Amino acid sequence: MNTVGYLEGESFELPMPDDFHVHFRQGGAMASYVQRHAASFGRAMAMPNTLPPLIDGPSIESYRSEILAALPRGSGFQALMTFKILPGMDKKAVQACAAAGVVAGKYYPSGATTHAGDGPRSFRQVEEVLEAMEALDLVLSIHGEAPQASTFDREKAFLPSLESLILRHPRLRIVLEHLSSAEAVSFVAGGPETLGATITAHHLLFTLDDMMGGNLDPHLFCKPVIKTEKDRRALLDVVFSGSRKFFFGSDSAPHERAVKEKAKAPGGVYSAPTALPALVSLFEKEGRLDVLPGFLSAFGADFYRLPRTSGRLRLVKKAWEVPQEMDGVVPMCANTRILWSLEPQ
Ligand SMILES: [Zn+2]
Repeated sequence: MNTVGYLEGESFELPMPDDFHVHFRQGGAMASYVQRHAASFGRAMAMPNTLPPLIDGPSIESYRSEILAALPRGSGFQALMTFKILPGMDKKAVQACAAAGVVAGKYYPSGATTHAGDGPRSFRQVEEVLEAMEALDLVLSIHGEAPQASTFDREKAFLPSLESLILRHPRLRIVLEHLSSAEAVSFVAGGPETLGATITAHHLLFTLDDMMGGNLDPHLFCKPVIKTEKDRRALLDVVFSGSRKFFFGSDSAPHERAVKEKAKAPGGVYSAPTALPALVSLFEKEGRLDVLPGFLSAFGADFYRLPRTSGRLRLVKKAWEVPQEMDGVVPMCANTRILWSLEPQ
């Protein structure tokens, strides 16, 4: 077990990171998104809100094959699969997804985000699915926003329903995805051992002022929306605390530049190419590089009861200018200088 990252001269090395939340998309651009991810991560958990969604053995298997087909020969990158929880699913459907090797089922409240119009309206509506997941020891991954609440309050407004879910399913392991608010941080920190959470790079790096304090930056628009400095501080502080309940999930969600730069821009930040260099720069500035190996490479695997990754990743202190566009998408930190770079594999 080797979780200690170290700073040696001008490089920082850590066990191969995991990403417990990514959107690889579909179609022509998917291969470049997958390859970009494999340059930074040993494993990534693919979200199931594709069209059509991942809901059974064949759809899960075929999406996994597409991901793996995009990898260069000899790549050790692994795709962790999930299924989408839909109203009307029964125990048998969950068992079939488990047989296809999923590690989690994803709950999107109806209308909460991209391709979530078909989601359940409440946990009660999918009680049979949740019972089956608890029995099979599958993790419940949740987009924790109440869509009927005002944008800024959606995450907080979701917490009471999560609290009653935890009481009804004390053995179900639950991950609240992409935490964005101080309230959700304290909820998870104070919750049982069965409750964990992912945190993205963009919620650790940016606030609402970065997105709309000057000119509007649609490339930082995401769900849940990036919040205040107080919220960002709460997220950073809980990672600094070394709590094993909190681990990295990029929620990297590319949308083509043209789609992001027109009216009705959809939510999603393309952070895959820049997340690790930007996080190492941030944590170095904060004097807390020591907590990154646990956050990026260990706590998520432990929560999911997966073996830790093998191999190591090295970043070098070599500044680079992030291009305006990568893979047809404007990446996180575009047109800015990041002090750290991934060492070419
Ligand atoms: Zn997502």
